[in-house]
Amino acid sequence: MIINYSTDTSVIIMTDLDGTLLDFNTFGFDPIRPVIEELLESGIVIIPNSSKTNIEIDNFCNLLGVKLPYICENGASLCNANLIGESWDILNNHTIIKGRGCTDLMETWLYSIDNNLRQQCYFLTEMGTEQQSDILGLTGKELDCALTRQFTCPFIFNGTDDDYHYLQIQAKTARLNVQKGGRICQLSGEHNKASFNQLLRDYFSNQQQKTIILAFGDSYNDVSMLEAADIACIIPQPAKPALILPTPPKKVFTATTAAPDGWLEALPNALKYLENFNIERHNHG
Ligand SMILES: [Mg+2]
Repeated sequence: MIINYSTDTSVIIMTDLDGTLLDFNTFGFDPIRPVIEELLESGIVIIPNSSKTNIEIDNFCNLLGVKLPYICENGASLCNANLIGESWDILNNHTIIKGRGCTDLMETWLYSIDNNLRQQCYFLTEMGTEQQSDILGLTGKELDCALTRQFTCPFIFNGTDDDYHYLQIQAKTARLNVQKGGRICQLSGEHNKASFNQLLRDYFSNQQQKTIILAFGDSYNDVSMLEAADIACIIPQPAKPALILPTPPKKVFTATTAAPDGWLEALPNALKYLENFNIERHNHG
């Protein structure tokens, strides 16, 4: 793999995990491991950006054998910010938080969302272990890690598409956010997976660096991140049509295979385009 980009540019690969980098069913990612090493050696910043919790992403990084900066719980917080830039080292625990705590979210939910809509939402915290396990595809300690959430409350929505639309409107009015992921919906504060993009661009711009963000995603909750990127790579879920972006960025690559192979299929195309992206920019001054 040839990775070419100009020295005045910081390249960020921002990637969803489940169904994008990790196999939708088994969560495996073996073929990607050596490629990640190669990308990091070339100076590319890799930021996992997932609805997963900080504990789950820490576990993923341990399996990978590298410490990475990451965004967890759908844009609620950016962890290990010190790994992106030294001047972010001064932050408390190297974490920047945009999310609201779950107790606060549920209080707002109770008094701002209509009863008939709330009745169609079944929160995972109200379920037994077996049902939680079926929905998340996890058991034991891994299930516990997935449920130890600080800023997002997962639920299943049983209503119609119209009702889901009304729910989103009511949530927005109450300064809440409802998003659909691959397996579940999430209630959160007003943040999404693109919440840190401007901060990252500003940071590198202060270092006299231009930023190119390559985003990889598979699901509705990745749309904001994919649209706010310079290059979007869409990975289809098994036996499902690939996501279509309402407002796509300049360049979109859609893989033909599911994760993790689809991630590896889209990556060289995106890197090749990156080369031309730089040349184009040079030519236009
Ligand atoms: Mg996903």
